[in-house]
Amino acid sequence: MADTSPGKHDTLIAACSREMYLHAGRSGNHRNCADNLVAALKPHGITVGLIPSPWNLFMLAPVVDGCSIEYQRPHCHPGDYVELRSEMDCLMVFSSCPDDVYPTNGGNGTPVNAHVELVENLEPCKKN
Ligand SMILES: [Zn+2]
Repeated sequence: MADTSPGKHDTLIAACSREMYLHAGRSGNHRNCADNLVAALKPHGITVGLIPSPWNLFMLAPVVDGCSIEYQRPHCHPGDYVELRSEMDCLMVFSSCPDDVYPTNGGNGTPVNAHVELVENLEPCKKN
């Protein structure tokens, strides 16, 4: 519905995971998006075998030279937002990525607030 950021969002990077942090020399207890997804779905009786590919809002990891992904600092700014509309009942999981290895979260490892607002009972979408 709306995107006030520069509009660059990543669909290539896998959710960060315990294994990724271990590979990067971090603790096996490092918070990660894969575990956040599993924990969020568990109360709904949903178990996850393979972690689905996430939509990484505000993250920037373009393909460069046609064959590799380059992790870059995001171009978005505080206050930028994306407004989504669901056309059917859905269950969405948001994880404020705790990645402090790559620059995709700004590169300074400083926690920031993420705000998610659910607005229900919107007018139905008009069909053409
Ligand atoms: Zn993450």
